[in-house]
Amino acid sequence: MKINISGLSEGVHSYDFAKPAIALGLEQNYLGEVHAHVTLEKSIHQIAVMVNASVKGVFVCDRCADEFEEEVKTSFTSIYSWNNDDEAGDDDDFHILRKEENIISIDDSVKEYLAIAVPLKLLCKKNCDIPESFIAKPEVEVTIDPRWKKLQDLLRTEKN
Ligand SMILES: [Zn+2]
Repeated sequence: MKINISGLSEGVHSYDFAKPAIALGLEQNYLGEVHAHVTLEKSIHQIAVMVNASVKGVFVCDRCADEFEEEVKTSFTSIYSWNNDDEAGDDDDFHILRKEENIISIDDSVKEYLAIAVPLKLLCKKNCDIPESFIAKPEVEVTIDPRWKKLQDLLRTEKN
């Protein structure tokens, strides 16, 4: 997923890329191709690259342990600049281009952003139920000393 910026006119350009997830270096649980739609905006001092990327992955549900497929999506903006006299260093979203650099590769950024786009809680469906056998029996309510009962009732009414 490379963009040739030599001789690119100022203004907005858009690109569509597809690259096998394996070729991008993503883990094996990602299937098929990574798709990326890029909107590039070139101005005098910088190039802004806005990327929308997606890929299908196979994950294991946190609740029922079933495997399921889900599309992982991400979007991010990277800035490429020749202006290296300011303080900003080369970080994840800000890149300094050398004068002779003609190619912008978004592979690494897409890979990183897709990797962090995976939700922390993976559920096969929104309200996946825990299989019956895993559900603990409800605890028997503890009997309360009648002297505390009044206080507890009071606390309950306050909460309401
Ligand atoms: Zn599940």
